[in-house]
Amino acid sequence: MFRTHTCGELTLANINEKVTLSGWVSTIRDKGFMIWIDLRDRYGITQIILDEDRSSKTLFDTARTLGREYVIQVKGTVIERASKNPNIPTGEIEILAENITILNESALPPFTIEDQTDGGEDIRMKYRYLDIRRNPVKDKLIFRSKVAQEVRKYLDAQEFVEVETPVLIKSTPEGARDFVVPSRMNPGEFYALPQSPQTFKQLLMVGGLDRYFQIVKCFRDEDLRADRQPEFTQIDCEMSFVEQEDIMNVFEGLAKHLLKTFKGLEFEQFPRMTFAEAMRRYGNDKPDIRFGMEFGEITDLAKGKDFKIFDEQELIVGIAAQGCNSYTRKDIDKLIEWVQRPQIGAAGLVWVRYNEDGTFKSSVDKFYTQEDLAAWAERMHAKPGDLILVMSGNTNKVRAQLSALRMEMAERLGLRNPEVFAPLWVVDFPLLEWDEETERYHAMHHPFTSPKPEDMELIDTNPGEVRANAYDLVLNGNEIGGGSIRIFDKNVQARMFELLGFTPEQAEAQFGFLMNAFRYGAPPHGGLAFGFDRFVSILDGSETIRDYIAFPKNNSGRDVMIDAPSPIDDAQMEELFIASTFQK
Ligand code: ASP
Repeated sequence: MFRTHTCGELTLANINEKVTLSGWVSTIRDKGFMIWIDLRDRYGITQIILDEDRSSKTLFDTARTLGREYVIQVKGTVIERASKNPNIPTGEIEILAENITILNESALPPFTIEDQTDGGEDIRMKYRYLDIRRNPVKDKLIFRSKVAQEVRKYLDAQEFVEVETPVLIKSTPEGARDFVVPSRMNPGEFYALPQSPQTFKQLLMVGGLDRYFQIVKCFRDEDLRADRQPEFTQIDCEMSFVEQEDIMNVFEGLAKHLLKTFKGLEFEQFPRMTFAEAMRRYGNDKPDIRFGMEFGEITDLAKGKDFKIFDEQELIVGIAAQGCNSYTRKDIDKLIEWVQRPQIGAAGLVWVRYNEDGTFKSSVDKFYTQEDLAAWAERMHAKPGDLILVMSGNTNKVRAQLSALRMEMAERLGLRNPEVFAPLWVVDFPLLEWDEETERYHAMHHPFTSPKPEDMELIDTNPGEVRANAYDLVLNGNEIGGGSIRIFDKNVQARMFELLGFTPEQAEAQFGFLMNAFRYGAPPHGGLAFGFDRFVSILDGSETIRDYIAFPKNNSGRDVMIDAPSPIDDAQMEELFIASTFQK
């Protein structure tokens, strides 16, 4: 038997017991007449002691051959510690060693396996298995596992059936590029990895399963923005004979259950906001509503006052940053540089200091009176002491830019408290989105999303105005879930493909299987998927999903530990009937 106990469980209640522990050598302190070893496993650390009076010379000799991260087995007796450590559960006892067996040696680890390590991100990722021995990493993986189990329990109790869908599939259009896999048995043909199990879960509804879920890997070949992973996990769900309201209720229930279980928080019904309202008030379809700083539109107030720059713009809009009146010219110049960075791309900022005495000082004093500025301030709910920041331009662009600034100011003002949770449903998304580049409509959610019946009449005349039966669950400024009621009528689905620019032949080639299934009694259905990695990380008070993934990829989509992706040899290429045009 390797162990009678773990390294995290022995206390004064076990005094005088003979025990066997196994684990890793965390630290060794050798005082000559005494040696202390901190023995670590997943459950904790237990102190092992050897002392000249009570331990044999051979035991001392063995102990002196040990190095950090050696795997050892220790047999000994639980004794009370002289100097207790109140910070760990085993801190009142230690094990007087009687026998030590080296189970495996270890090379010197490239960084210290401590909560505060000296290892940088790159080295820790290369040796991720060592990183996982550290509490902050291990604890996050255990937390993730606990959330997953809770999700399963909750959905199982509601009659959801967990079904695995295939990973080698045909492309599903969800807005990203597919990862593809060549087929050796079918020369010149390729599978795609699922961007989500979207079509399969709909087919399961046609199959009559009624309620489906799966905790499932999805793959999207996107240019990696910060904190995105090319493979990520969803809690993917679908239900039959439901309306939008039913789905929102069930999954609001799941979200509440998780917030209660893991955070001890109770919520009334989650607030709801339409897409249009979210864009107007926050410039963003996933607003962080933990704090105000809402947009104030002043287009009507600011135009026509000889300030040429504003006169030419579609939208003029601002926010009031609480207490930032104290920003110096230099601070403001830095802020202007910040919004002009290519990632934000704003032309500049107009600023207004709302002084404590109720007067205003602005960068546009030449054009606007104190009364003008007071009217602006009112739209932005500004108070004396605030700094008003105004941007102008094309509506969509300026909203995105000001939204980025709002988040930045909130970050600076400490308004994004990870211990505060503010869920929000955003509903009534547009069905379609115009893409300037390809000059055609794209499905905002995906092509299987149904239009709102009352907007159906606009589909031929003004498709951009049609709203969808689509909804997102937003938590603290992050989209943690999204879904829709689906089209289940094959004619409507065909019309949708047509709107998206597919010829009937292309639609047939890509989605024939789904259209065909819809000929055999497809029930009304809809669903949603949660981004599991993100949900878990936010629940745990972090926004770094990488930390909650055992073996994540870096910002270039690489796994630096196994060194993937990597070239394959010519023989393998030949076998797969692929030729490379890439040249180094
Ligand atoms: N498949 C969708 C997604 O990945 C979720 C859904 O519509 O259920 O976003």
